[in-house]
Amino acid sequence: MRKRALVVGLGIAGMSAAIGLRRAGWTPVIVERAPERRTGGYFVALFPEGRQAAADLGIADHLHTRNPGREGSANSWSVDRRGRRRPALGFLDQPGGPAAVLRGDIEAALWQSITGVEVRFATSPVEITEGSAEVQVLLENADTQYRETFDLVVGADGMRSSVRRIVFGPHEEHLTTWNAMICAFQLKEQVPTYETSDSIIIARAKRAVWVFGLADHAPTALLTYRTRDIQEQFSGSRVERLRAVFSGMDDPVVRHVLDSLEEAPDHLFDSVHQVRMPRWSTGRVVLVGDAAWCMNLYSGMGATSSLRGGAALGAAVAEHPDDLAAALDAYETGLRPFITKHQRSARLKQQMFVPSSRRAEALRSVLVGLARRIRGRRLATEAGGPQVPALSGTSR
Ligand SMILES: Cc1cc2nc3c(=O)[nH]c(=O)nc-3n(C[C@H](O)[C@H](O)[C@H](O)COP(=O)(O)OP(=O)(O)OC[C@H]3O[C@@H](n4cnc5c(N)ncnc54)[C@H](O)[C@@H]3O)c2cc1C
Repeated sequence: MRKRALVVGLGIAGMSAAIGLRRAGWTPVIVERAPERRTGGYFVALFPEGRQAAADLGIADHLHTRNPGREGSANSWSVDRRGRRRPALGFLDQPGGPAAVLRGDIEAALWQSITGVEVRFATSPVEITEGSAEVQVLLENADTQYRETFDLVVGADGMRSSVRRIVFGPHEEHLTTWNAMICAFQLKEQVPTYETSDSIIIARAKRAVWVFGLADHAPTALLTYRTRDIQEQFSGSRVERLRAVFSGMDDPVVRHVLDSLEEAPDHLFDSVHQVRMPRWSTGRVVLVGDAAWCMNLYSGMGATSSLRGGAALGAAVAEHPDDLAAALDAYETGLRPFITKHQRSARLKQQMFVPSSRRAEALRSVLVGLARRIRGRRLATEAGGPQVPALSGTSR
């Protein structure tokens, strides 16, 4: 008998886990709260570990990447307080040579590879009850509730995971608040006077505007700011709130981005948190991706770690086919150091995204200038790229 796993969530972590489990000989069933599969999404940098996981999961050939320009070409700009535009180090200039994708590109590649996996939309778990040899789940779909048993439940339902809340306790026990907000959306068109594939960074004390240029797609924008009153941010009109937060930054880039937000068909507006858990599994329930360890967008490692998490879960289960406890131990032991490292470094990266003060802003500027010079020298002397699997589906 093939073992059955309920995977909750059709995001990067859920589909990765489903592929990993299927490769290990299991039958995954995915439930997704939304009525249909989402597409599109914001800019995501995919790091070498994520590309390796994509290769391990067998989806690398389906993954469409959108890196603008070649390495070393000046297509990232920062704008200073006097409105002067200077070549800058962009998000993609980080070590490891990340690939530029939309979140939807990764999800589309995973989707192509889960053909044959049962997916139930508009369905969520309501109760999860552990038995000695199985786990019983009460599922809800529209007006119907029904019970079903599985050998394993995988919570891959994001930062505000229901599986985590039902099995591990309330959100407040696991979500740490970072006193920051984000708004991400797609620009209808690039900021005037910039090339479509240009990236633009305006990182001021407590508020920042990033535009991510892509090779064959309209740029996406990210507004992020620091605030102590998170609850208040969710009241009233979002556009008006963002206009108020960014008022005084009288720059054509900021104006264009804020105007574009009003016309954008959709956007993501949310508070920033990190999920901290002492353990990601108990009995026959395991968490993966943002549900387990959400590092948040500043780390730039959420998608990478979700792919890696799904692949690691599948590999651990394949390695311990008759011992689920040993498999979940191996999953956690193998992955925990990587996750801890990137959860910690996210604090520093937050300073690079959105400095906490004028001093931090000035320091950021010096550090980025230094890093840019070092990188320029390295590129001048070095030949060859990082030893990570190439993605054959690049820049179609
Ligand atoms: C603006 C922004 C920029 C980012 N940039 C980067 C980057 O550069 N690099 C990077 O690696 N990462 C980045 N990330 C993070 C990355 O996008 C996430 O970490 C990753 O997508 C998380 O995937 P996930 O599958 O764990 O969760 P999610 O994407 O949240 O997916 C969870 C799924 O579960 C479903 N669901 C939720 N609740 C239920 C329920 N009760 N029942 C059933 N289904 C449910 C949801 O509808 C959703 O489909 C960024 C994030 C943001 C917001």
